[in-house]
Amino acid sequence: MQKLRLISGLALTAAILCAADGGRWWSYVEYLASDAMEGRGLGTAGYKKASEFVAGQFEKDGLKPAGTSAYFQPIQFNVRTIAEDKSKVELIRDGKNEAVDLGTEANISLRGDPGHDIDAQAVFVGYGLTVPEKSYNDLAGLDLKGKIAVYLAGGPADIPGPLKSHYQSGGERWKFLKAAGVVGVATIPNPKSMDIPWARSTLARFRPVVSLADPMFNETQGQSFSLAINPDHAGKFFEGSGHTFAEILDDADKKKPLPHFPLAVRIRAHVAFTQSKTDSRNIAAIYEGSDPKLKNEFVVMTAHLDHLGVGQPINGDSIYNGAMDDASGVAAMLDVASMLHERKPKLKRSVLLVTVTGEESGLLGSRYYSTQPTVKASSIVADINVDMFLPLHPLKYLEVQGVQESTLGSDIREVAKSNGIEVQTDKEPERNLFIRSDQYSFIRQGVPALAFKFGYVPGSPEEKLHKEWLKNRYHAPSDDLNQPVDKEAAGRFDEVILQLIERVADEEGRPQWNADSFFKRFQK
Ligand SMILES: [Zn+2]
Repeated sequence: MQKLRLISGLALTAAILCAADGGRWWSYVEYLASDAMEGRGLGTAGYKKASEFVAGQFEKDGLKPAGTSAYFQPIQFNVRTIAEDKSKVELIRDGKNEAVDLGTEANISLRGDPGHDIDAQAVFVGYGLTVPEKSYNDLAGLDLKGKIAVYLAGGPADIPGPLKSHYQSGGERWKFLKAAGVVGVATIPNPKSMDIPWARSTLARFRPVVSLADPMFNETQGQSFSLAINPDHAGKFFEGSGHTFAEILDDADKKKPLPHFPLAVRIRAHVAFTQSKTDSRNIAAIYEGSDPKLKNEFVVMTAHLDHLGVGQPINGDSIYNGAMDDASGVAAMLDVASMLHERKPKLKRSVLLVTVTGEESGLLGSRYYSTQPTVKASSIVADINVDMFLPLHPLKYLEVQGVQESTLGSDIREVAKSNGIEVQTDKEPERNLFIRSDQYSFIRQGVPALAFKFGYVPGSPEEKLHKEWLKNRYHAPSDDLNQPVDKEAAGRFDEVILQLIERVADEEGRPQWNADSFFKRFQK
């Protein structure tokens, strides 16, 4: 209690700041992304402190607790950490062993079911994708029993974004590979769509890998081995196969179908790691609706509180503050909470604010919440997810993922229009953004959802700002409080999100998937 009261005092100062100029939003970002929160790593004291702050704000703004323990929903996790010095990956070519230099040439991933020694023939399987709706099958006619599937990340150009995204998710891709008898996978990212350059992503390999402790959530069961190959060093995996990696990339670039063929190597690996348990928590609160019937339905807003914690230093800084990823989204949620508290709009449906944990570890907190919700599952009508919306410039264009998938698309179009903002569709479907944040957990439970980014016109200075941001700050310690952001634009964004929530909460009918949406299949 002591802590809560202390925090309320601090928050009071924040509340004096006005919502419209983004000042209040920024004050929340400042708290959540400060060094004292230690990058909000799952299971850390920093995360706990940040989660107490969020719960304290919900309480201060008069929201009803909606966790299993007041505002909190505790969750158990398994934690694995690679022992790279005790691990080994080799290519066996013509009976000769060739070491794969871990960290430089490839990294072992601890997702799936690691811990088994493996020695298996490698087969290149194109994108390793199966998309039944498009009769697309990278595995057709290949003998993959007991093999390691090596594939280029991404998918063929002629398959629409959401469909391609869905089948590229770890669990979906694995389902088909497993059925074909595959025992392990090796992914090669396409340098053209890599969000994080290898030199930086490889620093993360010593970071603990977290998964939901309950085995019902293991979607890559039977995946005994998983490797990520540095595209700059992928060549050695192709030697002697009659194909080169450069040629594969060239085909992908020209949107030509990729070849499928056995590689001239076996991959032999020993994977060593340590294992432990930890816990973390989601935070949930309700702003009650006023319609006697509809108030039992919920418009959910989500944002993730966790980030990468303390890790390998870059330029002497080891705290991954995650100011934009996703303190910015949680701050938007707290701003929405404050506005609801101040304005007390009479809404038919209730609004459920859920701050989730474990997003960076694979959408774990939202997966948990959406399958074990603290309200009746069928009462959740929509998910409005705010993750790293990047207010780097004024808000003229809003890029909305999922805009073509459900009736929520027309809701956001109307709201944006009345604010003089133009809605854009996903400009980079190859980055898989629609399935890469927490909305996807809700989509899989049949809930229509939207996600957002500040948009821009291709070739504009704003585009440059976004590209530079991804290159230099995404998942780096420099995503901190010392970066230029347009606070006023962020304040405007929060207002748009609130208006969207209000509109959906007040509509007669609940949101529906469009008849032609791929995601309609999840509807319950
Ligand atoms: Zn992230």
